[in-house]
Amino acid sequence: MKTIEYLKFLEYSEIPVLAKKYGTPLFVYDLSTIKKNYEYFSSIPNAYGLTVRYSVKANPTRAILAYFNQLGASFDVSSVWEAHRCINAGIDAKKILLTAQEISAGWETLCEAGMKFDAGSLQQLKMYGEKFPDTEVSVRINPGFGSGLVKKLTSGGAHSSFGLWYSQLDEAVTLAERYSLTIKRIHLHIGSGHDSEVLEKTVNYALDLCTKVPTVTHLNLGGGYKVTALNSDPYYDHHAVGARIGTALEKFYDKTGRELHLEVEPGTFLIALAGSLITRVIDVVSTGSDGYRFIKIDGGLTEIMRPSFYGMLHPLVVIKQSGVAETHDICEQMVCGHCCIAGDNLTPTADNTEDFAPVLLARAEINDYLIVERTGGYASSMNVKNFNSYPEAAEVCRIAKNNYRLIRERQTLEQITQNERNLLLK
Ligand SMILES: *Cc1c(COP(=O)(O)O)cnc(C)c1O
Repeated sequence: MKTIEYLKFLEYSEIPVLAKKYGTPLFVYDLSTIKKNYEYFSSIPNAYGLTVRYSVKANPTRAILAYFNQLGASFDVSSVWEAHRCINAGIDAKKILLTAQEISAGWETLCEAGMKFDAGSLQQLKMYGEKFPDTEVSVRINPGFGSGLVKKLTSGGAHSSFGLWYSQLDEAVTLAERYSLTIKRIHLHIGSGHDSEVLEKTVNYALDLCTKVPTVTHLNLGGGYKVTALNSDPYYDHHAVGARIGTALEKFYDKTGRELHLEVEPGTFLIALAGSLITRVIDVVSTGSDGYRFIKIDGGLTEIMRPSFYGMLHPLVVIKQSGVAETHDICEQMVCGHCCIAGDNLTPTADNTEDFAPVLLARAEINDYLIVERTGGYASSMNVKNFNSYPEAAEVCRIAKNNYRLIRERQTLEQITQNERNLLLK
């Protein structure tokens, strides 16, 4: 049964206030939700210690990174550039682990400052060994299976290029010996939105690897922990999974006498539900009695591509322009973004990137607000930026109700075009 969705942390009356003060589209991040999520994850049962690395690619805005640092988090970065953004936010390089597809120029300086290196291929391991012989290193393994919300988010298995293919472990050990590297950490990130049963299978698999590589002291299970976003989503008990993983680590200790330190790298879990995207309804159109009612908003692919890229439905909430929620006059509507492309539609058929389906929403009129929830992660950081030359949206932190801080200004036209040069033909 379809039901209407509700706001996650904002109160209805805050919406027009925020929209008038900062303009729309606007990202709002709730600090107390971030804190609550971080505390939940850092208290997951574990046998011999736990490090929570915030996965920076979810949302790398400076104030967000600084807030996670203040909470005591460590960091997972997917590029040298993200590492630099951490350093610029005041984060100690020693708290950063680099797990990247591309190792860009400048990585050596970051490693000299203490950033840890996770080799995602034999080539990366060789590259690291040549530059930093006689040090500690981490290796990422593709166990040959994975799990994620959709295939595009599943980073284990034969279709996935991430990490060393599991049968290359012996070669990695030989390479490590050649450069006198100590393999200290085994890293596996099987996918975003994985099933916990597959994660537990991954743990058992990883513990076998740790038996073969006696120098390993840290087991890093990556990120991908599910969140309950839609009314129809189940509740996920990550503490219960953590307790079972802890038991597996204790059994490993009984067998080997080795206490493995656990690391996790949640991005989505820590930040997704802590962010809301406020947009304004700019138009309402219809394709007739056999068609649909469409709400057009002043945001879209330029702020969030998850619906179009993954077929992912986000909780959508209509708030009347006066700041109240309408709960009686509800009907099925489609929500479209402001980009001139048919794919800018926020109401995909679930898990299907090729089709659309209306959702149950309060009947929206022009100048009402449409809130897209679950947009703290992989929205501001992952979108079709500047398509149609729309400027990047502003970002605000919510410290408490009616207490906000602007953490990123809306982009200007000049900033969009600042690197362009004239073609000087005679
Ligand atoms: C993307 C990523 C994460 C975070 O994944 P979420 O689904 O946001 O939790 C963690 N570790 C690695 C290596 C990643 O690439």
